[in-house]
Amino acid sequence: MIQLDGITKTFADTTAVDNVTLELRSGKTTVLIGPSGCGKSTLLRLIIGLVEADAGTVTVGSHTVGPNTPPEIRHRMGYVIQDGGLFPHLTGRGNVAILARHLCWSADRVEQRTEELADLVQLPLDRLDQYPNELSGGQRQRISLMRALMLDPDVLLLDEPLGALDPMIRADLQTDLRDIFQTLDKTVVFVTHDLSEAAFVADRVVLLRKGQIVQTGPMSDLLESP
Ligand code: ADP
Ligand code: ADP
Repeated sequence: MIQLDGITKTFADTTAVDNVTLELRSGKTTVLIGPSGCGKSTLLRLIIGLVEADAGTVTVGSHTVGPNTPPEIRHRMGYVIQDGGLFPHLTGRGNVAILARHLCWSADRVEQRTEELADLVQLPLDRLDQYPNELSGGQRQRISLMRALMLDPDVLLLDEPLGALDPMIRADLQTDLRDIFQTLDKTVVFVTHDLSEAAFVADRVVLLRKGQIVQTGPMSDLLESP
């Protein structure tokens, strides 16, 4: 489903991603793990086309991703970042609806999809009428996830989605995320530097160091390696 071939990305004198070749299977959750600065976020941004590779190709389905990727292809991918990235001047509902409005969905269709997604992420509907600064971090992430899922993308990319949360909220959302990934059967790419989080959600783990893949496999292999 997602194929990276010989991807390299350099910023000034830092090689953030160094000749990475990787295949991410459809319907699976792949976790990119490694220490801060090893290139995880850059790899995710390369997949969604926010960053352009210096060398190599990224293919999603049968399309090559790059600066000229048409919106129809980008809309097949949902993206969630650490602090949710919600627009502060819009309510939860406004944030969730933004892409659908852009595509001129009817108000009824937006409402129906919003309710469906609130149910999926277990967010009480009244929360959606509040602004991001009136919500807890966990609620903001649930809304961010709804926004990412609005157009029912094939691919879901999450960059440290639990990284800014308090431990209790984090544990709850971690469990719910795993259930949601299993229910939806999408291609999920999940970035974290937390081993226990990786073990919890991953079908397959990709360990990165200094922009290179050190190891890939199920979590059990990773833990057994020297
Ligand atoms: P397999 O024999 O299927 O390659 P592994 O033991 O390597 O299995 O993989 C462990 C888990 O990761 C399985 O759930 C498998 O389906 C999944 N998996 C294997 N390869 C990939 C991939 N390229 N992308 C995503 N998930 C994968
Ligand atoms: P991780 O997500 O694993 O913490 P990143 O992908 O954010 O790693 O960063 C990898 C390396 O690339 C780091 O050294 C980082 O400082 C650098 N880097 C990432 N994005 C940029 C950018 N836009 N400009 C300059 N350097 C960057």
